[in-house]
Amino acid sequence: MTDQAPTAGATNAEAGEPLVCMTGVDKHFGDLHVLQDINLDVAKGEVVVVLGPSGSGKSTLCRTINRLETFESGTITIDGEPLPEEGAALAKLRADVGMVFQSFNLFAHKTILQNVTLGPIKVRGLGKSEAEARAMQLLERVGVAQQAQKYPAQLSGGQQQRVAIARSLAMQPKVMLFDEPTSALDPEMINEVLDVMSGLAKDGMTMIVVTHEMGFARRAADRVVFMADGQILEQKTPDDFFTNPESARAKDFLSKIL
Ligand code: ADP
Ligand code: MG
Repeated sequence: MTDQAPTAGATNAEAGEPLVCMTGVDKHFGDLHVLQDINLDVAKGEVVVVLGPSGSGKSTLCRTINRLETFESGTITIDGEPLPEEGAALAKLRADVGMVFQSFNLFAHKTILQNVTLGPIKVRGLGKSEAEARAMQLLERVGVAQQAQKYPAQLSGGQQQRVAIARSLAMQPKVMLFDEPTSALDPEMINEVLDVMSGLAKDGMTMIVVTHEMGFARRAADRVVFMADGQILEQKTPDDFFTNPESARAKDFLSKIL
């Protein structure tokens, strides 16, 4: 190791800046102050699990980072760059910030393979054969390579969600957002999706995960962020959060789910 300045081409995050940086972010839906002075930094390779009661603003927080929602004040940067407003830069942002939702949102009339190659061909400009080769590797990685020629409806929910993860990964995102990725799944399929996510975390993917799976939060999170009523009330290690919640809201939340 030398203490020279980062080499040209190094990303801002590699130079030690947070990959995702939210500062003083505020957002209203009409009278509802849904995000209140949100300050959240996520380092490269960090796994942040966002917990909190229903309606606390967790989904809105994720959607704001991906610019699926606008916000009124404050700043959000990804790898040092402010969120773009529109056009090609916004398409690139959506590729850099992968998002996996509760509902898998696969394209119903495209095969699994086409679902995974579409973005890389259209947005990243990859050739078809290269996109397909990479897609097959990713489908292998999430354990659904054998389903590549099938259509989404022919797959189980757990398989579809793993395809959705592969589809995001195919864009080579800098950070992945997961918004309750297992909430719509039958219980026996939850672990196959969480296992894929744990693997990603181990491989160093930067992740923000909204989930009610407390086992996953304990195992995989570097940090737990607890939200209630549009505010971040606590940010601490999972051990610290689960054994030593400080706010009344967090104590109440944990007493109901543990
Ligand atoms: P969570 O994901 O923590 O359950 P959400 O971010 O989905 O919370 O919602 C936070 C609050 O904002 C809720 O009260 C919800 O009803 C409200 N809300 C979410 N989306 C909209 C919208 N598009 N228009 C108006 N209110 C919304
Ligand atoms: Mg939500």
